[in-house]
Amino acid sequence: MVDFSLQGRYIINAKLVCETGLHIGGATTGFEIGGIDNPVVKDALTEEPYIPGSSLKGKLRALLEWSLGKNKFSKYPHHFAQGKKGSGQPTFSPCDCGQCVSCVLFGVTPDSSVRDKENHFRGVDMEDSFAAKVVVEEDGKERIFFYTGPTRLTVRDSFLDPESKAEMEKLLGKGFYTEVKTENALDRVTAEANPRPMERVPKGAAFDIEMVLDVYRADVNRADDRKLLILKALFEAMHLLEDSALGGTSSRGSGKVRFTDLSAKFRDVSYYSTGGKDGQKPVTGIPDNVAGAIESFGDIEWNFPVPPDS
Ligand SMILES: [Zn+2]
Repeated sequence: MVDFSLQGRYIINAKLVCETGLHIGGATTGFEIGGIDNPVVKDALTEEPYIPGSSLKGKLRALLEWSLGKNKFSKYPHHFAQGKKGSGQPTFSPCDCGQCVSCVLFGVTPDSSVRDKENHFRGVDMEDSFAAKVVVEEDGKERIFFYTGPTRLTVRDSFLDPESKAEMEKLLGKGFYTEVKTENALDRVTAEANPRPMERVPKGAAFDIEMVLDVYRADVNRADDRKLLILKALFEAMHLLEDSALGGTSSRGSGKVRFTDLSAKFRDVSYYSTGGKDGQKPVTGIPDNVAGAIESFGDIEWNFPVPPDS
C-alpha cells in the first residue's frame, strides 16, 4: 500500500514587491460617506491591506496550468455558441486530472484524487503521473490505481512588511496604506468620461510571503529525477506570475509583482516532536530571486529527506 506519512515540510519565504499598484478587491461595507466603490481587501481589525492566500494560490495554480496546457473548459463551448439553454458560460476551470504536477501541488477534490489506470480516459499518460501508484489484488487480478494524496501546498495570507508599512505611513499618513486610482470609461459618441475610482496598494509596497510545501513518503519514493519537481513547479509558477499580474484590472496596468529575498528551510518531523529543537535545516545556496532559484535548482542543497524505501 502506498505510504503517505509526512516526512517534513519546506517553509518558503519571500517578499512580494508591487511594481505597479495592486488591487485585490474587498467587500464594500455599508455606505460610508466619501467611501470608495472598489476597495481592496483589508484586515478587519487593523484595516491594513493584505493578500489572501487563496488569491495568490489561485493565480499561481492558473498560471501553472496554462503553462502545462492543463486548463479545461468546464462547459462545452459549442453548446454555448448555439445558445443552448442551461449550457452556462464557457469558462475554464482548474485541472482535476489528479495526476499532473499542478494537481499534486495545489490539490484536487476527493472525487478526482483516485484514478483507475484501466478506466481512465482523459488522455493522461499515467506513466508520467505525479500521483502515487497503488497496486491492488482483486480476485487474483492485479489492478492499478493512482492516488493524488493530500494537497502539498499551503499559502498563507500575506501582510505588509514592517519596513514598507512605516515607509507608507511616512508618505501617506498614519493608518493609510492605499491610493485611489481613477479610470475613465469614455463614451464613444459624446466622448464624455465616466470616472471609475479604484483603491490600490501603491507601487513599492512589499508583502511578507510564506508558503509551506509538505513532503510525504510517496514523494520521497518518486524516481530520483522527479523527486523535487513539485517544488520546482512552485518556483515556475512564481516566475510566471512575475510576467503576469496579480489581482484585478491587471490588463490595465495593475498587479505587476516581483518576488525578492527568497529563502527556504526544511523541517523534518523531529522538528515537531522536539518543539523545534532538532530537525530544521536551512536550504543553502538558494538565490534571492525566483529566476535564479530555477536556473540553479540542481545545485541547491535542498536537504530532501533520503533515502527512499528499497
Ligand atoms: Zn491535473
